[in-house]
Amino acid sequence: MPPSRLLHGLLLLLFCVTLTGCPDRSGTGAEVRRSRIIMGTVVEITAFGAAPPVQEQAVERAFAEMSRIDDLMSPYRPEGDVARLSAATTPLAVTAETAAVIATGLQVAAASGGAFDMGLGRLKALWNIEGETPRVPKPEELAAALAGTGPGDLQLAGRMVSKGVPDLQVDLGGIAKGYAVDRAAALLQAAGVSHASINAGGDMRLLGDHGDRPWRIGIQHPRNEAAILATLALADTAVVTSGDYERFFERDGVRYHHLFDPASGRPARRCQSVTIVAPTAMLADALATAVFVLGPEQGLELLGRFPGSEGLIVAADGTTVTSPGLAGRVTWP
Ligand code: ADP
Ligand code: MG
Repeated sequence: MPPSRLLHGLLLLLFCVTLTGCPDRSGTGAEVRRSRIIMGTVVEITAFGAAPPVQEQAVERAFAEMSRIDDLMSPYRPEGDVARLSAATTPLAVTAETAAVIATGLQVAAASGGAFDMGLGRLKALWNIEGETPRVPKPEELAAALAGTGPGDLQLAGRMVSKGVPDLQVDLGGIAKGYAVDRAAALLQAAGVSHASINAGGDMRLLGDHGDRPWRIGIQHPRNEAAILATLALADTAVVTSGDYERFFERDGVRYHHLFDPASGRPARRCQSVTIVAPTAMLADALATAVFVLGPEQGLELLGRFPGSEGLIVAADGTTVTSPGLAGRVTWP
């Protein structure tokens, strides 16, 4: 993992710690706060509302669950569904949960007109943004990496996944972390933890509120690492941020980041940062990537097609827009 990524995770972690402070623990038991590096990012879980030993054990199980999802959905785990799918030349049966994640991804892909595309594995490898030697590919390389991507590149029937072209490389990097966060939340809830936040480097899920008030979630300023752009007051929901400052390199004064516009094969240029509030982190994760590609105007339209989803979008010129449902929940500094 690049050090910048780790630093970013730590910064996010610090913001959340700063903002949430100490909850009212009266009658709810002591708070547990643990962090672990999973899926290439710092995952922090805060839990309270149950007996301390129960919480400790539930938090450990939640981390283990996220590692299990990583094994299933990382392209680098040869036994996992995603690596097997990328290698497959004929339709392949995946686990029910990978099928469910792909189903949600395909909904966002269709509703976004292909701005979200789970077939960009080759493009991602070509840019190598997160590797030691990222580079700006030539147009013919981009065209080759995009061959076979676009609508219909992945098809799902029950648990059977078919690829439009045999060498399509599958990448769930825009949705799997959200799903892992949802699973962690489900385990905590099942263990009786009534109040928790799970933060995987900007993919968050909140269980309950923060004791006597909502959780206060700081959104990082996309152009000032040390500043908070806005604060959201939230409870019992998911909130996910995708930004061009998370993973990027600069060449000749141009920033090349990890959120690709499938139409060009290049980093999307319409936004600096997108924060989505939605019922699940899986949906919020995919929508954040899709809205980032579409830009503020079409992005808000997309959110309108997913009931319960809201967004705070920082456009390329630094101006911000929010969807109507966030009114009253945003505080600007
Ligand atoms: P992270 O929080 O890990 O930075 P994001 O949710 O912001 O992840 O999504 C970025 C990841 O999504 C990329 O690293 C890549 O794997 C994948 N990705 C990039 N562009 C797209 C796209 N247009 N559609 C779907 N997935 C994408
Ligand atoms: Mg995403």
